[in-house]
Amino acid sequence: MDDYQGKDKGLTRRAMMGGTALGFAAAAAAPLASRASALAPPDVAVPAPPSLTPDQALATLKRGNRDFLSGKTPRQDGDGRRRLEIARAQHPIAVLVSCSDSRVPPELLFGRGLGELFIIRNAGNTIDTVAMGSLEYAVAELNVPLVVVMGHERCGAVAAAVSVVEDGATFPGSIGQMVEPIIPAVLDARRARPGDLLDASVRANVSRTVSRLRQFSEPMVLDRLRQKRLRIVGARYDLDDGTVDFFDEA
Ligand SMILES: [Zn+2]
Repeated sequence: MDDYQGKDKGLTRRAMMGGTALGFAAAAAAPLASRASALAPPDVAVPAPPSLTPDQALATLKRGNRDFLSGKTPRQDGDGRRRLEIARAQHPIAVLVSCSDSRVPPELLFGRGLGELFIIRNAGNTIDTVAMGSLEYAVAELNVPLVVVMGHERCGAVAAAVSVVEDGATFPGSIGQMVEPIIPAVLDARRARPGDLLDASVRANVSRTVSRLRQFSEPMVLDRLRQKRLRIVGARYDLDDGTVDFFDEA
């Protein structure tokens, strides 16, 4: 994890560059309902937040993956109605922490459309300070009921971490630092599962993140978990057959 002191510096720099981060922070400070109504022009109704439970949100993703496998494509928004409907307020049903890999696009894999998934992506689906802040924003401000941490088969970032552990490999630029948080997962996998080390590491990387989120998150996340208003689950996407296997669902 980066340290949190870097956050203000980053925010100031981004605010100076474009003002968007400052706007985001100011918007985040106001309660959602008042903000949504204050922003909505009189002729655009703000849609009510969906009342999905964590279980319903998870079932929706599972059903969406079955749709993806059967060739159904996500809803398109040809007439712009959905875009307008959510233009002033978003109510996504799940946060996805997933890999940047071009073969793993969450909306497609879960058959979802505009405004349905709040996605945090990086190579190796790890959680640094920026990812954690994004997740907290989605949970605390947008009331998202489900967090899915999803790895995938033959992940290049996890393979890089495996090669660091097995062969002492090094990588140029920031790549080495990027795969560093995955190394403990490889070590876990090596101790626990003698089979396919890469795939065991993919799962261990997800499980470690799920367990860290459940134990060491801020109260804004932990309170919701305790109140059963939030679930955090793990998943692995299979590149060969297109299925998402959910695990660590407890
Ligand atoms: Zn990957």
